[in-house]
Amino acid sequence: MAVYNPKSLKAEEFINHEEILETLDYAEKNKHNEKLIDEILEKARPVKTDTGYVCKGLTHREASVLLACDIPEKIQRMYEIAEEIKLAFYGNRIVIFAPLYLSNYCVNGCLYCPYHMKNKTIPRKKLTQEEVKAEVIALQDMGHKRLAIEAGEDPVNNPIEYILDCINTIYSVHHKNGDIRRVNVNIAATTVENYKKLKDAGIGTYILFQETYHKESYERLHPTGPKHDYAYHTEAMDRAMEGGIDDVGLGVLFGLELYKYEFAALTMHAEHLEAVHGVGPHTISVPRVKKADDIDPDEFDNGIDDETFIKIAACIRLAVPYTGMIISTRESEEVRARMLKVGVSQVSGASRTSVGGYTQEERPHDTEQFDVSDQRSLDEVVRWLIESDHIPSFCTACYREGRTGDRFMSLCKSGQILNCCHPNALMTLTEYLEDYASDETKKVGNAMIEKELLRIPKEKVREIAKQNIEDIRNSNRRDFRF
Ligand code: SAM
Repeated sequence: MAVYNPKSLKAEEFINHEEILETLDYAEKNKHNEKLIDEILEKARPVKTDTGYVCKGLTHREASVLLACDIPEKIQRMYEIAEEIKLAFYGNRIVIFAPLYLSNYCVNGCLYCPYHMKNKTIPRKKLTQEEVKAEVIALQDMGHKRLAIEAGEDPVNNPIEYILDCINTIYSVHHKNGDIRRVNVNIAATTVENYKKLKDAGIGTYILFQETYHKESYERLHPTGPKHDYAYHTEAMDRAMEGGIDDVGLGVLFGLELYKYEFAALTMHAEHLEAVHGVGPHTISVPRVKKADDIDPDEFDNGIDDETFIKIAACIRLAVPYTGMIISTRESEEVRARMLKVGVSQVSGASRTSVGGYTQEERPHDTEQFDVSDQRSLDEVVRWLIESDHIPSFCTACYREGRTGDRFMSLCKSGQILNCCHPNALMTLTEYLEDYASDETKKVGNAMIEKELLRIPKEKVREIAKQNIEDIRNSNRRDFRF
């Protein structure tokens, strides 16, 4: 029997089934232990220091107790602390990105995904480099600066060389004032050698969802293809980091397995990365299974309601305070609004989950990976964020300035965010407002910028930011950053 060891490089030792079961048992026994719950909540709170805020985070056992707790006042307290943490480390900025689907060819048999190999009804499509260019121009014309590329796993149709060509093409397109400045990559688990190639191609975060941490379920849900190998998939982030990628993004596809099990394992995965590589995950995504071609989410027994979903997000925020949290357009406007309050720091906007979807007028459904609930335009999403007092940020400065991995985490902890990320967000928002926004969005956006400039503590930084914003408004100069 495998023994739990967060420092091990073996999947079944750092995501240890027995440890998860013991954690769930401990959480169940303590879910009404108010004294313990108060201590855990107190530990999770951000503490102000001379230079900023620090947070201790929570162990997977502590966080699991909170998730199990069903006392309404305590849950309310979790939400309040989640918001405090978010404001301390991320402020009111929300980073915006869009997915770009390159190819839906896939050799895997994932039961929840319409790209699975046996699906004969979905048209298969792979973008040529000319088509990638056209998609990127369409995305730039909306105002996007940051993409997450997505592809099925197919060594013949989508080999690593194809993915690398696409990344080069994306970075090479400069249409009007447009620019894609950060490409995150969501492709199947691969080798250290291929991760090195992705690193050399200048990717931002390498994202790979675990889908489920429960080995038996994992093997049942991935009956065929290379993805069937649980250990190879679960150990992928260690190979990515060995290949030099500093920023990795974890995720669970909620609905497949029992959420408490997934949550304990997800937090154990974060602890493992911290223990082995000295830095936790850069982001955590929280997708839920959606309807799609040949896929009925009701076939999976473990769907979670909105309340539970929000609670999971708040508990993630408390457990890993320095990790960004991502919510996609799988979720409705209403759920996304609630998620912003409990700690989400990145949202996608105006997403098309079909291959080639951005160059088509109508939202095409035939090659879609899943139904999109939030179908608003980017301009509408930006205005919605502004009107709810969030700064939509198109900033990509950290990774371009080499502030990745633990260097990003130290910026988070140093209290310099208001002198760095905050002005960067305002400058990139100005670019968006000048180049792409509707009059209405521009009006509310400019009012927000005036107000938010006053919050930059260092006078010198404030003056430079103001000057840069004026330059953006009065010239074609772009891409200022601290
Ligand atoms: N093919 C790559 C892999 O195997 O990891 C990643 C790309 S896949 C396009 C991105 C993610 O979409 C998957 O990891 C999965 O979690 C999610 N996904 C698949 N089917 C879904 C569905 N029906 N509803 C919601 N999300 C889904």
